Amino acid sequence: MNCPNCGAHGLRTVETFQTTDKTLRTKKCVVCKWLFTSVEAIPDDPVVIPQSVRKPARQRAQH
Ligand SMILES: [Zn+2]
Repeated sequence: MNCPNCGAHGLRTVETFQTTDKTLRTKKCVVCKWLFTSVEAIPDDPVVIPQSVRKPARQRAQH
């Protein structure tokens, strides 16, 4: 990933925020000091299933 301001490769992640389905990273360009946030979806994040739906599946797995 390149800096959106100057196009340089030298990006440093300064902060990481984890949400349920995304990772937000605040990055800083070491060249121009530009700060920006990138959003990354988690590719293998399981679909959030309500507990009422999830329970029967757990019982099936036990026997
Ligand atoms: Zn830059």
